[in-house]
Amino acid sequence: MYFDYRHTKIIFTLGPATESEEMLREMIVTGGVDVCRLNMAHASHEWTEMVIKRVRKVCAEVNRHVAIMMDVKGPEIRTGDLPEPIDLEEGEVFDFLVNGDRSGLEEGIRGVTVNYPRLHRDVHEGDTLLVDSGLVRMRIEEIMDDRIRCKVIIPGPMGNRRHINLPGVKVNLPALTEKDKADIEVGLRHNIEFFALSFVREANDLDILRRHLKSHDSEARIIAKIEDQSAISNLDEIITAADALMVARGDLGIECPYEELPLIQRRAVKACIQKKKPVIIATHMLESMIEQPIPTRAEVTDIANAVFEKADCVMLSGETTTGKYPVECARVMNRIARQVERSRETKDYENIPLNKPKAKMLRAAVHLAQDMNKAGIVVFTRSGYLPQILSALRPTRVPIFAFTDQELVFKQMLLMWGVEPFLIDFAEDSETTIKAAFARLYSGRIEWASPGDWMVVITNVLVGEHIIDSIQLRQIE
Ligand code: PGA
Ligand code: MN
Repeated sequence: MYFDYRHTKIIFTLGPATESEEMLREMIVTGGVDVCRLNMAHASHEWTEMVIKRVRKVCAEVNRHVAIMMDVKGPEIRTGDLPEPIDLEEGEVFDFLVNGDRSGLEEGIRGVTVNYPRLHRDVHEGDTLLVDSGLVRMRIEEIMDDRIRCKVIIPGPMGNRRHINLPGVKVNLPALTEKDKADIEVGLRHNIEFFALSFVREANDLDILRRHLKSHDSEARIIAKIEDQSAISNLDEIITAADALMVARGDLGIECPYEELPLIQRRAVKACIQKKKPVIIATHMLESMIEQPIPTRAEVTDIANAVFEKADCVMLSGETTTGKYPVECARVMNRIARQVERSRETKDYENIPLNKPKAKMLRAAVHLAQDMNKAGIVVFTRSGYLPQILSALRPTRVPIFAFTDQELVFKQMLLMWGVEPFLIDFAEDSETTIKAAFARLYSGRIEWASPGDWMVVITNVLVGEHIIDSIQLRQIE
């Protein structure tokens, strides 16, 4: 059995540094990435279509697969354009114009427009307003009919379209904006595998997106990005309503006191595994590698920590959109994940709650495979449900080989911890399908298993008129 593989999956964000065919090939073949994220804060529709096609083309050429995740921005507030970047001064009075018109600026007071016309109704005097990932800090001094007047507490530079954070403020923007819907339309047209929704505040935000996708007959999965305090308060219901979770540490570390971040991450990972939902750790994992070819020791430990926690995925953002060393970043994640996974034997998720009899059967299959020492699990699925449960059980040193005949599900399983997906045709009779699956395991690019290896096979058998779930212990011939 081939054991030198990675359970932790790698997501990269596609940008100027990685958009060429050559770079995509490198990212996929050398970097070993599993999922490609498109950040719609910085993407035109033409560009999005072009790169989706390009990713698929390169995948076909190198015969590897990556899933595509479109990250829509949800209720994110941004500043408008400035005639030129400005340097704010400490104590300076600064206006945010809510009606989007710069001509409303008062003599002697600098300011910028914002993309949310109701912002002044959601905030209060004394609130903190942060610009550009918290680099600039202001205090709201006065709320007027058409503007918010602030005082600069911590000064810094301000460029175009900077992100605004308002810690603790409940913003009344809809969960899904008109821009999001237009972006999603592009993703739907190309049948992408995942949509990530930014600034999810409660389960209902996800239900809105779910209904939207359903009304367009889409089976894409929904990833909830938790980025502010309301998401933390409603964490359990959000995980239940989502297909997967992203711990978006960039905004979360601004909206919440950053010392709470490690605790939130831990809690979120645990809660997701308990609820059998994949979880992604995102942002700043290799921030220094945007400029430098090797990671800081603190970054190495941060990635290792996510692997120890058994998160499904680690994610790259700026490192692969504009960074100088995108392929090296993926390789660094690869190396750390493999090393840490090799050294880790704890079975901390064996006892997660399982209700359905079929799910309980999977726990027995995991026990059996672990007991056999060097056995794999072979599972057949049309919805991805069984592999998702198996993955959540986080079996130690047991590869989960998941076979499906559904292309979308095949790629959606790329997100799941420890799952190696395969796309095959299902035969009428399960024995033929099992044989075909076994053959795939030793005839592909990687020889996953060889004759003599033990497999715990989860399959249906026909007994008289009845289809019965079964676990079979088989040796590959
Ligand atoms: P973003 O989300 O990169 O879309 O801002 C991730 C984060 O906030 O961490
Ligand atoms: Mn964010």
